[in-house]
Amino acid sequence: MKKLTPNATGIEGRVLRRGEEKYEHFRRGAVWHAGTPERYPEMIVVATSAEDVAGAARLAAAEGLQVAVRSGGHSWSGSHLRDGSLLIDLSNLRRVDVDVEAKRAVVQPGITGWELAAMLRAEDLFFPTGHSEGISVGGYLLQGGFGWMSRTYGPACMSVVGIDLVTADGSVVYADETTNADLLWAARGAGPGFFGVVTAFHLKLYPRKRFEMRSTVIYPLATFREVFDFIHRLDTPAELGVLVRRHEMANNDPIAVVTGIAYTDTEAEARSQLAAFEACPAFAQALHTELYMPMDYSHTDTDGGSRDEEKRWVADNMATHADFADLWPGMETILRDFPQAPSHLLLFNWGGYEKSYPRPSMAFSVEDKLFYGLYAAWDDKADDAAHVRWVTENMRAWEPFATGTMLADENLKNRPFKFVSDENLQRLDRLRAEWDPERRFVAWLGRPDAGQAG
Ligand SMILES: Cc1cc2nc3c(=O)[nH]c(=O)nc-3n(C[C@H](O)[C@H](O)[C@H](O)COP(=O)(O)OP(=O)(O)OC[C@H]3O[C@@H](n4cnc5c(N)ncnc54)[C@H](O)[C@@H]3O)c2cc1C
Repeated sequence: MKKLTPNATGIEGRVLRRGEEKYEHFRRGAVWHAGTPERYPEMIVVATSAEDVAGAARLAAAEGLQVAVRSGGHSWSGSHLRDGSLLIDLSNLRRVDVDVEAKRAVVQPGITGWELAAMLRAEDLFFPTGHSEGISVGGYLLQGGFGWMSRTYGPACMSVVGIDLVTADGSVVYADETTNADLLWAARGAGPGFFGVVTAFHLKLYPRKRFEMRSTVIYPLATFREVFDFIHRLDTPAELGVLVRRHEMANNDPIAVVTGIAYTDTEAEARSQLAAFEACPAFAQALHTELYMPMDYSHTDTDGGSRDEEKRWVADNMATHADFADLWPGMETILRDFPQAPSHLLLFNWGGYEKSYPRPSMAFSVEDKLFYGLYAAWDDKADDAAHVRWVTENMRAWEPFATGTMLADENLKNRPFKFVSDENLQRLDRLRAEWDPERRFVAWLGRPDAGQAG
């Protein structure tokens, strides 16, 4: 029997050249929001298998094109849309194999965190997947990945124990802590600067705990200083997320939705963790409270589903352990010109927990007690510059108090800032030179020491 493929490349998936019908459909679809950057790959390959990915890498080499990769397309900056590149679209690689006894899974990059979480939950297993519907494991795991219970389990990339990948020359390679260990080290945190295409992640899973419980308290603007000061000082095993956005319940002033989440083996332990949130000095002034609510993390969005895909978006973030008194002047400026919802500010207490799992040696190296992310959403292209400026300049004002920025909601194109330790950036550069000597793969959209590195 002779195997036929729909085009001369031997690739079974779609191969679209710039200008061809459907090219623009796939280009726009490669970024989750309406502000798709005006950057145009020469070709898009919609892979159906790891073999297609290897074929696409060889095709790029033959055509003299750089390679960029997307899984779910939830990069805010559309890091994978690059002029003159070949974009490999992995969104159809969605297979999940689980060994329940061994607590291991092999997961392809196009599956979403929500889908994976629900599948594992049904098997009484757990993995620290991302918070929001839609984000795929591909980009999430490579960048580090802070999601459910990351305060305890650490960035999700720590629980990646092996990867199947395609390298710059089109070879299919496996990496774990003993085989090609440098590649696993890099894949745990290089994010959009990774110099390979991961076609499957081998994950370590955890037993599922019995109780997921949340308390949500909504505060008015007048209490913010007290509330944030309290949160900065709070020492709790519970996960804490704060969402600030304008809301009609406060005549369109910004409100702060403070959510504490306990993930425990007993109900008593969950209740005791959440009780700490009622000690906030502004608690009596809350606009609304929902306390000790059972929840299913695999179907909960901590930002209340506020990421409207029809809007144009820009994001930026920092990791910090600053006293809130130092951040307050910047916060006041942010609150003064806060754009309309769904624009928002997020705060998570992802780091600094003494009982968190120990970090292995890995490229991921910027984290801190708290994560602040600032997100603007708008409709009109003519307003792009104003919103990009609002997010970028407000985060720049906080730079003296930042440990670094986290790949995920990064804004490196507009504000290059430290995203891995200097030592790890140098090691990533050395490994790139070794594994991708011709710089076939695009790198980060910007970096602190060398400007545009793509
Ligand atoms: C609504 C929303 C909610 C979010 N919530 C969270 C959250 O809770 N926690 C968190 O940590 N982050 C969060 N993020 C950030 C998100 O996790 C990252 O943008 C992540 O990279 C998205 O993964 P993806 O596969 O969907 O994205 P993609 O845009 O496909 O990937 C991002 C980048 O990673 C690289 N890449 C992706 N897949 C591969 C691969 N298989 N091989 C090689 N390189 C690859 C590419 O360079 C690509 O540009 C959120 C983003 C959005 C838009």
